[in-house]
Amino acid sequence: MRTIIEPFRIKMTEPLKITSAKDRAAALEAAHHNVFLLDAEDCCIDLLTDSGTGAMSTEQWAAMMLGDESYAGSRSWKRFEASVAEITGMKHIFPTHQGRAAEGILAACVLKPGDIIPNNSHFDTTRANIEYCGAIALNLPCAEAFDTQAEAPFKGNMDIAGLRACIAEHGAGKIPFAMMTVTNNTGGGQPVSMANLRDVRAVLSEHKIPLIIDACRFAENAYFVREREPGYRDRELLDIAQEMFSLADGATMSCKKDGLANIGGFLVCRDDEWAERFRSLLILREGFPTYGGLAGRDLEAIAVGLKEALGYDYQVYRHATVEYMMTRLTAMGVPMVRPAGGHAIFLDVRQMLPDMDPLTYPGIGVVNALYLAGGVRAVELGSVMFGHFDSDGVEQPSPLELVRLAFPRRVYTQSHFDYLIEVIEQVWRERNRIPGHRITQQPKMLRHFTCHFEPI
Ligand SMILES: *Cc1c(COP(=O)(O)O)cnc(C)c1O
Repeated sequence: MRTIIEPFRIKMTEPLKITSAKDRAAALEAAHHNVFLLDAEDCCIDLLTDSGTGAMSTEQWAAMMLGDESYAGSRSWKRFEASVAEITGMKHIFPTHQGRAAEGILAACVLKPGDIIPNNSHFDTTRANIEYCGAIALNLPCAEAFDTQAEAPFKGNMDIAGLRACIAEHGAGKIPFAMMTVTNNTGGGQPVSMANLRDVRAVLSEHKIPLIIDACRFAENAYFVREREPGYRDRELLDIAQEMFSLADGATMSCKKDGLANIGGFLVCRDDEWAERFRSLLILREGFPTYGGLAGRDLEAIAVGLKEALGYDYQVYRHATVEYMMTRLTAMGVPMVRPAGGHAIFLDVRQMLPDMDPLTYPGIGVVNALYLAGGVRAVELGSVMFGHFDSDGVEQPSPLELVRLAFPRRVYTQSHFDYLIEVIEQVWRERNRIPGHRITQQPKMLRHFTCHFEPI
């Protein structure tokens, strides 16, 4: 059959509030035209993030009832450890309450001020944890990553020549580890090839620099490797994931992504001495090493979820959704970042609204139009989130103006996506009516979360 169906049926439902245009206008007004300040209940299709927003399976809910809440050495810990060990092959496994906690422990235990950490692209919490230790987070994406329209299969790859140059310039002594983020979230969920991971590993091995994988979307990456890289067609996704981790010395993970859980994370490594340091700080910050800030039932949900994320039919369905959106929107002429990444689509607002002044925040205009048209909540990745003030206090726009629609896992059905296409179509058709915005109130840091806007 040509039709790819959701490989699950629905046993429990959660109502969506169907709102009128008038309701939405009033809600947006009350939220000062910033969708982060809306009540989730007022968002019919909430695509703010794919983090922790997924639906759990019957197997996961059943496993949760088996949660062993013993402080030390619980059965749930054993199951979590076995699942993570099978996938990553790592000797030392530490649960954490989410991905950033794993990054924080790694950074605090290993980094000194002035150290340099190369990555294909650092996620924002990873960068923040590294910079908090006085070290430098360096992005080394491959050349194709800069072209939003280039159709390359692995735009998440690292620039190998750049990595060599970085080591030559700073010396291996300044680089306590390097990272690879799979898939490359900051680059639009673009995958990393096994060949590139292997090349990175080889360069690092010459200089005895450990490799840490930021593994949040490891299963989506494994699927892309299977589909797009020669030689992987007949391999199980688990097998491909194991090969990815075999090239690394450690990993950080947010189980809110490919753990298919609503909370949780982990830090893993091979080195005994690092593990000793991680364990001490884990106890201080997260909890005893066999629960690490999680309930026994969370450990159970993750143990099952990590395996489900590697299910081939699940990945086929997930990618079919993203591809379907890309195909339909491309046919309507909607400009987007290409090709489709693993967990989201990105509208290219600079091309949608070429004449709008970036300092009137065209991305916010599109985000708000999506909400007003159909109660869809998206997020601006543009001049509000990434713009900055230069030394003279003059506001500088971001080089890219994108709007991201991130897809929660197993949450929305085909008709929700058809509705979403209709909403985007309306916004696209009426794009000349989208107003600019001005900021009426903003905090000094991370302004996008809480600032107030006013349409111009
Ligand atoms: C989400 C994410 C993190 C941080 O994980 P949290 O669970 O949100 O703390 C780190 N790296 C990447 C690539 C992510 O997508």
